[in-house]
Amino acid sequence: MKVAVCVKFPCGEINPFDACALEAALSLPDADITLVSMSPLKVMTAFKELSRYDKVSRAILLCDPLFAGSDTLATSYVLSLLLKRISPDMVFFGSRSVDSDTAQVPAQTAQRLGYSFYPFVMRFSGSRVVTREGEFSLSLPAALSFERINVLRFPSFRAKPKEVEILSASDLNADISRTGLKGSPTEVVNYVRTEGKIRKCRFIDKEEFFPLVERLKNVRKKRFEIRESAEKTDLALAIGAGAEAYAQAIAKKVISFPFLSAEETKVKTEEYSPKAVIFASSPENKTVAAFAAAKMGLGLCADCTSLRTQNGEIIATRPVNSGRDYADIICKTSPLLATVLSFDDSDGIIVSGGRGCEKETVIKFADKLNAKICCSRAAVDDGKFPYDCQVGLTGKAVAPDVYIALGISGAVQHTCGMENSGTVIAVNPDKNARIFEFADYGVLDKAENLL
Ligand SMILES: Cc1cc2nc3c(=O)[nH]c(=O)nc-3n(C[C@H](O)[C@H](O)[C@H](O)COP(=O)(O)OP(=O)(O)OC[C@H]3O[C@@H](n4cnc5c(N)ncnc54)[C@H](O)[C@@H]3O)c2cc1C
Repeated sequence: MKVAVCVKFPCGEINPFDACALEAALSLPDADITLVSMSPLKVMTAFKELSRYDKVSRAILLCDPLFAGSDTLATSYVLSLLLKRISPDMVFFGSRSVDSDTAQVPAQTAQRLGYSFYPFVMRFSGSRVVTREGEFSLSLPAALSFERINVLRFPSFRAKPKEVEILSASDLNADISRTGLKGSPTEVVNYVRTEGKIRKCRFIDKEEFFPLVERLKNVRKKRFEIRESAEKTDLALAIGAGAEAYAQAIAKKVISFPFLSAEETKVKTEEYSPKAVIFASSPENKTVAAFAAAKMGLGLCADCTSLRTQNGEIIATRPVNSGRDYADIICKTSPLLATVLSFDDSDGIIVSGGRGCEKETVIKFADKLNAKICCSRAAVDDGKFPYDCQVGLTGKAVAPDVYIALGISGAVQHTCGMENSGTVIAVNPDKNARIFEFADYGVLDKAENLL
């Protein structure tokens, strides 16, 4: 079984999601693995180290100054040139990268190769996969993107690194107008550093908790709002619930669809010639948008939190650097394709459970307060709640009147999804937990002790 594993080194080390993809490949008894990385020469030591695994027969570094600054479309173009030559049965990716998290390259590469695509793999047995969408038999050739489902083993003590082959743009016969910064339809034009929306937390006794929530539940605070652009473009297509509000903010006319496939998106784009095509950012739409972008050769801005029009140009803003900062992105191709973080701006109370809180405790709080349940990613990974409930960078954004965080530490990837809530109350016995910086009220106790 020929398997290509594509890896990146965002902080000098292998991207943790790519490490899971490599481990999945190593778990196949008959795997003949080619490691592929499109990276600068400085990753050579880390890359060579990965070539020590017995099942890795080739390690290929795609390295050329002409690749520098490639966005996802340009990256998938270069990767697909190499992969077409190797023609593996399966191509493995990490589902996302810890530095940018757009999750587009696997889908776009699969589209260019014409492979079946299985995104967000949570279980893998060689012939069957469980993804966020359900369980499937693999239809080969296939591209798969892996969640953090395993731990990369160590290579054998005696194993020696292999020779790394370095290929340039000319070795691949790449069209250099489609690589690097010049060949990338999206461009970051501005970076905004942010420490998020820090609040001043007032600590209360556990007995005060339920009376406080009772008082707050009817208080309406100004929460997240999508700002209207002063200047508007002519027409935008909105696909999926949550996309329409963003489209209306930048376009005079909006045509909405509950769902479109990548092919249907292409057809509708040709039919209506919109200035923007905006997808609500569900896992399914992320793949569809990436496929549609690759099909049409258009730039795609992923997981945007705002869109605006300025001097005739649409500017998309998205969290980067794991949600710590924001980047303004423009698209050199038209229409602009974007996935937008859908805001669940429901009134009322959300009780959100983390790794530190039992599922039953979260349910008891929610029942008592007549609240909706959400959770952190750790709670999804632990199997406590479904992915639909996940708040944060790779889940959904919420802005209820009251957000109650039970057993959540407050990682930046979580807080960027709840920081627009009206009032935030955190319950956690650790007074140094970061969640208290994003809370108006805090209870220093175990969640179950409040019931
Ligand atoms: C690319 C990327 C994307 C990510 N996307 C997301 C995302 O969308 N959403 C998200 O949430 N995370 C996301 N993460 C993961 C994030 O970094 C954190 O790992 C995660 O949010 C931690 O979840 P947690 O707070 O539930 O668990 P932990 O960090 O383990 O915190 C558990 C907390 O519970 C407290 N506790 C323990 N016992 C009790 C008790 N009895 N009662 C009350 N409190 C208790 C502890 O003091 C601790 O603070 C992402 C990470 C990466 C790298």
